[in-house]
Order: sequence, then C-alpha cells, then structure tokens
Amino acid sequence: MKMTFLGAAHEVTGSCTLIECCGQYGLVDCGMEQGKDIFENQEIPVNPAEIDFVLLTHAHIDHSGNLPLLYKNGFQGSIYATEETCNLCRIMLRDSAHIQEQEAEWRNRKAKRSGADAYVPLYDMNDAEGAIARLHPVHYGSTRQIGEGFSVRFSDIGHLLGSACAEIWLSEGETEKKLVFSGDIGNLNQPIIKDVPSTIADADYVVCESTYGDRLHEHPKDPVALLADMVQRTLDRGGNLIIPSFAVGRTQEMLYFIREIKERGLVTGHPNFSVYVDSPMANEATGVYLQCGTECLNDRAKALVRAGINPLMFRGLRTSVTTADSRAINLDPNPKVILSASGMCEAGRIRHHLKHNLWREECTILFVGYQAVGTLGRLLHDGAEKVKLFGEEILVNAEIATLPGKSGHADRDGLTAWLSGFEQKPQLVFVNHGENTVCDNFVAHLENDLGYKAFAPFSGTGFDIATGAFLSCPEGIPVAKKKTKAESTSVAFQHLLDVGNQLPAVMQQYAGHPNRDVSAFAKDLDKLLKKWSRHLN
Ligand SMILES: [Zn+2]
Ligand SMILES: [Zn+2]
Repeated sequence: MKMTFLGAAHEVTGSCTLIECCGQYGLVDCGMEQGKDIFENQEIPVNPAEIDFVLLTHAHIDHSGNLPLLYKNGFQGSIYATEETCNLCRIMLRDSAHIQEQEAEWRNRKAKRSGADAYVPLYDMNDAEGAIARLHPVHYGSTRQIGEGFSVRFSDIGHLLGSACAEIWLSEGETEKKLVFSGDIGNLNQPIIKDVPSTIADADYVVCESTYGDRLHEHPKDPVALLADMVQRTLDRGGNLIIPSFAVGRTQEMLYFIREIKERGLVTGHPNFSVYVDSPMANEATGVYLQCGTECLNDRAKALVRAGINPLMFRGLRTSVTTADSRAINLDPNPKVILSASGMCEAGRIRHHLKHNLWREECTILFVGYQAVGTLGRLLHDGAEKVKLFGEEILVNAEIATLPGKSGHADRDGLTAWLSGFEQKPQLVFVNHGENTVCDNFVAHLENDLGYKAFAPFSGTGFDIATGAFLSCPEGIPVAKKKTKAESTSVAFQHLLDVGNQLPAVMQQYAGHPNRDVSAFAKDLDKLLKKWSRHLN
C-alpha cells in the first residue's frame, strides 16, 4: 500500500500520483505539463500496461492531457471520472491530439528543409480516441468499487463543470486506509457552477492543491456591469469587441454574463447586437454545459433552467463551425462581439480576428483570463504598439482592456476552509499543485498557524500508506539537467522506447507456458541486455 508523487510536485501543472494496493496500480490524474517547467518529473515507475485504472478529478489538460500518451504506451485499464468530466474530456483530448499533430506537421516541414530528424508527435488522434474509449462515468456521491481493495467516490469541488475531489478507500489484509485528493478546489461565487459544496468527514491522508496557497483574492467587482460597460463603449464607437477566451469554462461564463446583460437591457441603442462564438471546441463545450444535470448548477443557473430559460442562449448569438463561417464574420459590417480561442492568442481563429481588428481604434480587445509571459496575449496586454500576425506587421490602435478575472481556484482561505471540513485533522496533508515557494508557504501556514502536519513532496517521493513512513524523499531536480533535446526527440530513440514498451505485455503472455519456452525467452533477453549494456561502457 503505497503512493508515489510524480507530477504537479512543487509545480502547478502535470498532476499525476501513483497508488499501489493489493498488487494493483492506479493513477490519480494523468496531466500534461504546461508553461514553464521548473522541476524534472520522474517517469511513471511501472509499465503503463500494468496500470489498472486512472481516477480523473477534472477535464483540464494539466490533469488529463497525458491520458492519450499513457494509452499509446500500453495502458489498457479504465479511466473513472464524473459524467461531465468524461464529456468535456472527449472534446479536450481530441483538441490536444489535434494540436500535437499540427505541431508535428509544422516541425516536420521545417525539419525537411534543414535535414533535421523527423519529429514524432507526443500522441495523435488514434491515441486520444483510445483513451476516450476507456472513460467510465461515475455519478457524484456514489461509491464505486474499482478493483480488489480499491473504491472511490467523487464529490463536487466547484472548480470546473464536472470537477471533483476523490475519496479513495484502500484495504489490504487487515489494513484499511483512506486517502482524499482535493483535485483543484474552486473559488466562491463563480457563474453557472456550484460553490465548493461538499466537505469530507474523514481521511488518513489528504493530498491538497495549493495554486493560491499564499494569496487572498481581492473582493471581486461586478463582472456583468463591467462587461456591459465595455460592450456599450465599443459598439457606440462602431467597433467590434474581441474577446480571446478559453474554449471550455471561460467562454461559457462570458455567454452567461452576456445573456444577463441582454435580459436586463444593460446595453442600450444596439438592439439584438450580435455575439459570435468562433471556436468549434467552445461550441461543443457549450453543448456539454447545456446538457449537464442540474445537480452541477448553482441556484441561479438552476432557477433559470427551471423557468425554461437557457442560461447560455440569447437573441443575436451566432456560432461558427467551419472556416468559411469564421471568414464570413469579417464581412458583417455591424458592430459586434466576437469570442474566440485560444485564450492567450497563441493559436486558433482569434489571430485572424486580431489581424482584422487590432489596427482599428474603434475596436476593443478584452482579456478575460490569465496571459502567460511570452504569449501574444501578454504582449498586447502589456501595451505592445505593433505585433506580427501571419507575417504582417499590425498596428495596435484598438483599446486593450481587461475584465478583472475571477480565478477558478480557491485562495488560501478557501483551501483552509475546505481542509477544516474534516472532523479530525488528517495524519498528514500532502501539498501539491502549487509553485515552488507557494506550496512551501502553504505548508508553513498549515503547520504553524493551524496545527496540521503537512509536507510538499517533490517528484519521486514515495510514501508507505500502511505504516506512514516515507520510502523515498528526493529533492527537486531543476529541469536544466534534463536529457538533451536530441535524445528526447530522435525518431530512432522513440522507436527503441516503443519496441521496449511492448516487452512486458509479451512477457506476461508467457505466464503458464512450458518452462522450456520461458527459459529460452529469458536467455535471449538476457543476452540482448548484456550486449547493449556493454555497448554503453
Ligand atoms: Zn483545473
Ligand atoms: Zn490544475
């Protein structure tokens, strides 16, 4: 009975933890690292073919994005998640595979010209479909036995549609233990979804996120009034309001606000102004939001639905799916609102809309989410006077504005409020999913101010759940020491990994075969390994 911390350890992204019980292996989350990588993550220490299941807390790519890679490397188990997480995951994993394929195509065009090695995408659409086929929905609040000695229950955690914390019961021989993974804990008063509704009564060990573990959110201003003001100002000038927005979550929140603006008549003089959602992924995600069960909605959204009002629909809403639809938006001369992805302007249709609108001083570009350093969104946000788009220099004459964001994450007080819901303090709180100093600060806050025992593990930390002893406690390895790019991207090396990864499955098939065959196989393998190890020296 043990647990190994692999990802989101002293980092915010790449969530992944391995649990072992009764000879079975399970992962909690299998996320992709995004943005700046600080510490090296230990590889999953068992062959993916031996992993029996994954418990997925929510659909964000930093929790789900490596599921297709796990499948590509031989995973044949089941992925358990709430219904809405499964629905969003289908959209997000396909999109992620599409991005991987596109990047590979682009790099390979360059590689051909320079004679460099071909680039293999991390995974492709087949791998995404393979992972999607392994998704198994579990209702909020129902306890599911998922293998000998393992059962799980997901409860709403108010971070994204379908998001959950996971209670995991382990039993092996006489020993019974309970783990609780917080997942990402939601902020209060978010539109559409519920506030963190559930507290958990008990746990031996808790793994808690700490994204805002050393900060308190400012008191939010009324986003509906602010947004209405920006729409009014821009349309009065005869311009377009361009909103770069994340396709899942943020776009639906904007639609929810705009519906209210229209209903309350907060924008005047522009009856039925048009709002375009120009992102196929955003439109698919809106479909998931519209079909979700009312148990996922907060009281306001629920009341709308019960009154027969669609909370994300209004007159003037237009969705575009094809690229021809997208191009046609620029032919509409009337002032309008355009929501498009990606949220940081790094890719996607938003770049076309920026090209057509940035140079026009009557237009507004409204940022509604976090803009990471180095992105086009950040450049614009920070006041760039001109930017390059599709090889063309474009002047920035439009108004650049920001809608003070509501983070999807709880702040320090929100995190501790959730933790204080446990009737008895857990034996140890593992703190993950926070930047290096932030998770350390949150540990200090929990220990010094609130009397918890807490620890922020680095990747590779192993913990014996039965005895409560640390099995390994490594320091973080800064990413600079990671293997060279040539090693990680060479086609030949990838081939070696692919072939090697097939080995355990073939070996397993020899269980129960005549000893003569098994010994011959072992001898051949031994010879091969010795030969190629000698080669290294
Ligand atoms: Zn998240
Ligand atoms: Zn996260």
